[in-house]
Amino acid sequence: MEEERRVVLVTGGSRGIGKETAKVYAENGYDVAINYVSDKTDVEGIKKEFQDMGVKCLMVKADVSNEEDVNNMVEKVISEFGKIDVLVNNAGITKDTLLMRMSKEDFDKVIDINLKGTFLVTKAVIKYMMKKRNGSIINLASVVGVVGNSGQSNYSASKAGIIGFTKSVAKELASRNIRANAVAPGFIETDMTNVLKDDVKENIGNQIPLKRMGTAKEVAEVIYFLGTEKSSYITGQVINIDGGMVM
Ligand code: NAP
Repeated sequence: MEEERRVVLVTGGSRGIGKETAKVYAENGYDVAINYVSDKTDVEGIKKEFQDMGVKCLMVKADVSNEEDVNNMVEKVISEFGKIDVLVNNAGITKDTLLMRMSKEDFDKVIDINLKGTFLVTKAVIKYMMKKRNGSIINLASVVGVVGNSGQSNYSASKAGIIGFTKSVAKELASRNIRANAVAPGFIETDMTNVLKDDVKENIGNQIPLKRMGTAKEVAEVIYFLGTEKSSYITGQVINIDGGMVM
């Protein structure tokens, strides 16, 4: 009999760290459910890219901050694949500005997508993981959720919230054999950091012990490890992937 394939759901998997993460899981034989939100997404192109790797790929449009969207998304993944072994809560946005100028809307939007989105998707998925008494959840925090950053009070608060959320979920669900961990990347080359000016990037690079920004692949490999049995005794942890920025 063919061995049952493992399934990963990656939110915000259409670009950047999320897409690279889905690729590493696919390279290791996982079927992948990829969530996105933008109408500009090349749904068929991405699907083909993954199918060419020999795995099944389901593309699901959903705004992670919308409960109805999230529940429909998880239902679709379950009806297509029957289970979710690994959940990667990766979808996230920034709306950076100094606190004095930050609107309530920009604060709410970042908390809604980054933190509430992580809550909504996790809540919808654990129902199925609990039935299987098996699962691994990996949440995308950030080093700024640990040390803070000027101009990112909304984003840092959302990422610090994700760290507290992750630890609570880890404690609540350990008895069901469900693990929850967070990764805290530093500065990683993606669309999110492309908006930074070259001199800002250079300045940041100089402050990193390894003297460079990280790649999405370097984050994806750690997220992959946390999803597999190789990390079976690790739960409730926050793993920095930051070239040594925060020690
Ligand atoms: P990115 O390149 O900007 O990609 C963001 C992804 O999130 C896209 O796939 C986007 O989908 C999706 N997304 C945005 N809003 C969404 C929503 N409401 N519902 C569903 N999906 C949504 O970001 P990234 O740099 O790869 O970052 C990924 C994660 O890592 C984020 O949580 C970020 O905070 C965290 N992180 C990044 C860095 C860094 O330096 N890049 C550092 C620390 C932490 P569409 O393509 O449909 O827009």
